[in-house]
Amino acid sequence: MRRPTVVGNWKMNASLEQTTNLLAGLTEGWSGVHQAEVAVCVPYPYLPKTAELLEQSNIAFGAQDLSEHASGAYTGQVSADMLLDFGSKYVIVGHSERREYQNESSELVAQKFEAAATKGLIPILCVGETLDEREKERTFDVIGRQLRAVTERCGLGGVAKGVVAYEPVWAIGTGRSATPEMAQEVHAYIREVLGPEGDHTAILYGGSVKPGSAPALFAQEDIDGALVGGASLKAADFLAICRAAE
Ligand code: PEP
Repeated sequence: MRRPTVVGNWKMNASLEQTTNLLAGLTEGWSGVHQAEVAVCVPYPYLPKTAELLEQSNIAFGAQDLSEHASGAYTGQVSADMLLDFGSKYVIVGHSERREYQNESSELVAQKFEAAATKGLIPILCVGETLDEREKERTFDVIGRQLRAVTERCGLGGVAKGVVAYEPVWAIGTGRSATPEMAQEVHAYIREVLGPEGDHTAILYGGSVKPGSAPALFAQEDIDGALVGGASLKAADFLAICRAAE
């Protein structure tokens, strides 16, 4: 049995006031979600407010990145311990925006995954191909390499304890989602790479998931939920996606 899981990735959005309103919208509108694990990954400065406002709720939270280092002279970086200090449960690693804009390599992503898991955070490992890679039929090759960088460092069992998110780069923030069948094909491949160790690992789909597209995606055998960007900034839409995961 895998627990359906829906995680919001707020990216660099929302002010303190919007954070307060959005979290109030989620807690006040919370209904019809009984089985699913739900979390929001917020910008670092809003972690304390998020911890305060979600304290009595069933919604977990976390961050969108962390340092591969435990502590030290790393200006501007944030450690796993710091995230834990504010009650974070999850941390996203290897989001395609960080791979692209911050030049994060799969090796660095693997170090971050290990830094998070070692301290007891649940890493959400993002993998996904670009449009060019898909058109050249390199999807499985790319995703296999992104996964293996982490399994070689942390072992299959280590990766299986985290969450994996398949996010085709061409579907993120574009309004263009993979079809449920396209996503299922890649999710099945990811599960195959993880092997029996990954039987209980949640594999989420991410890429323009909306309330209307979520049910068909979640109906696929190997799609256990979603990593949601844009639609996680609207309480009603995010809650509708969470209900669809039940
Ligand atoms: C994301 O960035 O993780 C994401 C899935 O974004 P969106 O839902 O906006 O495509």
